[in-house]
Amino acid sequence: MTDVEAIAERLRARGLRVTPQRQVVFGLLDGNQEHPTVEALFGAAREALPTISLKTVYQTVHELEDLGEVRLLDVGTGAVRVDPNVEHPHHHLICTECGSVRDVLVDVGDLHLAERDRQGFVVRDVQVLFRGECAMCVPAPGH
Ligand SMILES: [Zn+2]
Ligand SMILES: [Zn+2]
Repeated sequence: MTDVEAIAERLRARGLRVTPQRQVVFGLLDGNQEHPTVEALFGAAREALPTISLKTVYQTVHELEDLGEVRLLDVGTGAVRVDPNVEHPHHHLICTECGSVRDVLVDVGDLHLAERDRQGFVVRDVQVLFRGECAMCVPAPGH
């Protein structure tokens, strides 16, 4: 769904008023695999809609989270990342140099905690983070 009218349709179906701000933020996130920070989204949104504020982008992202359309991730890169891939359970590759985040659809097996290890917690989600350097940041061999 990249088409503006389809985005408007989805907003209406969720009972949300169709505003240019929401259309822009929805459009930027649709199919986005970059896991942008809210600030990065704001930068991109401002190109399409110069009057949009950072506050509006934050509000829109939180609305989307409430609707279950995105997930907000804290993967230790210093800022919350917006992940629109909520359909497919997945884990993440994190570049410790540039902070890029990518989805990994890998089966890590049945990770579960025995009752004594849960320390009274009710576990609802498991996230595996693979940290290292991305292809752009890994030192070239021989250097
Ligand atoms: Zn990197
Ligand atoms: Zn993801």
